[in-house]
Amino acid sequence: MAIIVQKYGGTSVANVDRIRSVAARVKTHWQRGDKMVVVVSARSGVTNELIGRARALSPFPDEREMDMLLAVGEQETIALLSMALHALGVPACSRTGAQAGIRTDAIHTRARIANVTGGDIAERLAEGKVVIVAGFQGVTENNEITTLGRGGSDLTAIAVAAAIKADLCQIYTDVDGVYTADPRVVLNARKLPEIAYDEMLELASSGSKVMQSRSVEFAQKYNVPFEVRSSFNNQPGTLVKANATSMEDAVVSGAALDRSQTRVTVADIPDNAAAVAGIFDALGEAGLSVDMIIKNLGTSGRANLTFSVNTDQYEQTERVVGAVLRRLGSGTVRSAGQVAKLSVVGVGMISHPGVAGTLFGALASVGVNCDLITTSEIKIAVAIDPTKADAALRAVHDAFNMGTTTP
Ligand code: ASP
Ligand code: MG
Repeated sequence: MAIIVQKYGGTSVANVDRIRSVAARVKTHWQRGDKMVVVVSARSGVTNELIGRARALSPFPDEREMDMLLAVGEQETIALLSMALHALGVPACSRTGAQAGIRTDAIHTRARIANVTGGDIAERLAEGKVVIVAGFQGVTENNEITTLGRGGSDLTAIAVAAAIKADLCQIYTDVDGVYTADPRVVLNARKLPEIAYDEMLELASSGSKVMQSRSVEFAQKYNVPFEVRSSFNNQPGTLVKANATSMEDAVVSGAALDRSQTRVTVADIPDNAAAVAGIFDALGEAGLSVDMIIKNLGTSGRANLTFSVNTDQYEQTERVVGAVLRRLGSGTVRSAGQVAKLSVVGVGMISHPGVAGTLFGALASVGVNCDLITTSEIKIAVAIDPTKADAALRAVHDAFNMGTTTP
């Protein structure tokens, strides 16, 4: 008997048939005597549909109302899954984020979890009930509904697993686990049996859509190992934990593409640290993260900055930077077009030199150039032409022999 938190994403609960099969899987565990907490997302497409309606009514919908709206998606699923379990003779009850004691700050649409009380989850588990928790949502100390940012149901699952000291946390999704690269683009991509939090984090923030990166950060901080696996089969997935045993001699564990980056150019600002700090502080305060920053000297003591942001945060970035520039009394901000970010990630990079050479060699072999570059101890990322991104990813995957197992 174990305490298990399972999280099912949007495609796993997309319709009543899928919800029924999730219920059957949960029942199997419950019959063995496991104590089950199930976190669910909205049915796939629902959150986007709700956002679409909001935008149709207002270009910048009020964020508090946005949360009120978006929380609806997950609430539908908890009720339906609960009913599906009842139909299979399993006692189950649903809980909203607020009822499960997911307390957050008041930054609407991307709230951070402050603490998780768990509400009455422990009592209900002790009665033998399955507890179903709405992912993605929380509540402020003033009882305002918040959401945790896109993909936030993963975060709910990890946070609940930490709070109730679960023995196992499983993230069920529509892929079999974490691959060396997106298998839809790279046909010989390989499923990794294990991966370290740090690597997963870099992959998640590099556009590998498997999981929301904030949830991996949270798992690392509270040391919650979790498994990413498919709800469409019974294969074991990828275990994400502190120290994964990487493949021997694997320099790079994975490569990822983020196709939704916008290059932002801020021109003609005063060339001093205070001006640059003013811009990035304001972006940070607005919860906007920037990546791949370059500063160039302009003419007559002026400077230019180029950086990338998520495309869906571009408009807000432009407004926030615009306000700083007005205070500074100079400068312009504009979009310099879409870029794709290609990242290679691996703890093996720490001990193997020459990664940059191999990467640029692979890009050159398919005629891809890059300007913005960023590195960390375990990652190199480059901004490239989005129309050449797939070819670049395949070339890089081959260059690091990621598709073939070492003997
Ligand atoms: N329904 C939310 C979204 O689509 C949260 C999630 O699925 O994790 O972003
Ligand atoms: Mg998701």
